[in-house]
Amino acid sequence: MINFPPPKKNAKTEITVKEMADTKNENMEAKKTYTCSMHPEVISDKPGKCPKCGMELIEKK
Ligand SMILES: [Zn+2]
Repeated sequence: MINFPPPKKNAKTEITVKEMADTKNENMEAKKTYTCSMHPEVISDKPGKCPKCGMELIEKK
């Protein structure tokens, strides 16, 4: 007399996804900064116009 238990479906699917989303590789040396010649506190990473006086931003060196 063999009394064996029914097959237990131990489907423990533990998925540990350790995905490091390190796609932010901002290691570019050619990073330019733009600023206003009248307002040095205005700094932008792209060309545009000064929000204070409307002057064209110049490339900072
Ligand atoms: Zn300005």
